[in-house]
Amino acid sequence: MNDFIKSIPKDVKLVAVSKTHSCEIIQQAYNSGLRIFGESKPQELAKKYSELPKDTEWHFIGHLQTNKIKYIAPFVNLIHSVDSPRLLAEINKEAIKQNRIIKCLLQLHIAKEDTKFGFTIDELQKYLSTNDFLKYTFVKIVGLMGIASLTDNTAQIRNEFQTMRKTFEMLKKTVFVNDSDFCELSMGMSSDYKIAISEGSTIIRIGSLIFGERDYSK
Ligand SMILES: *Cc1c(COP(=O)(O)O)cnc(C)c1O
Repeated sequence: MNDFIKSIPKDVKLVAVSKTHSCEIIQQAYNSGLRIFGESKPQELAKKYSELPKDTEWHFIGHLQTNKIKYIAPFVNLIHSVDSPRLLAEINKEAIKQNRIIKCLLQLHIAKEDTKFGFTIDELQKYLSTNDFLKYTFVKIVGLMGIASLTDNTAQIRNEFQTMRKTFEMLKKTVFVNDSDFCELSMGMSSDYKIAISEGSTIIRIGSLIFGERDYSK
């Protein structure tokens, strides 16, 4: 694991995806120097937050139901997976209650599969052009997130990451031109992070490569 961590460029953030793993396992990873952890279930995340050291940074990376935002709103550092205008509005409401600004990434649907959540490029452009998001002053959009297709076809994966990058650059030059906070591109998992980094990822989300295979039956 250390060799893997050393191989990551200094300007790429590593989110250790700890979903399904126990607090003991996460504490060990923390002791070895990791500080950013990613989870995909709100209640599981809240429980781990309460049990682990307070200088841990917690990222939410899964599909978020609006009625569960409240579990993570008091402390979450970054929500990677904002996949609808309604979710952004509801996160803003919970952030107001907590009197804190919550950083978010908009999730782009880049994979060929139907099962992945997220905005299409068209939907994203349409939504952002309304400037509707500007009225949500307690959420801060700091970039984009995407999940590539689950495939052995590396050319396809590279192509999907390039689409992400192009969309990101386009938004940086237009909608977010005066906003230096719009700077994060969350892409790359255990199987495809090298391609993602070479295509400009600034945040990689790595689970099994750090913690081993997940056991969802536990
Ligand atoms: C589970 C998960 C990961 C980590 O996957 P690995 O293949 O174990 O690295 C990354 N991103 C998201 C959105 C996930 O749900």
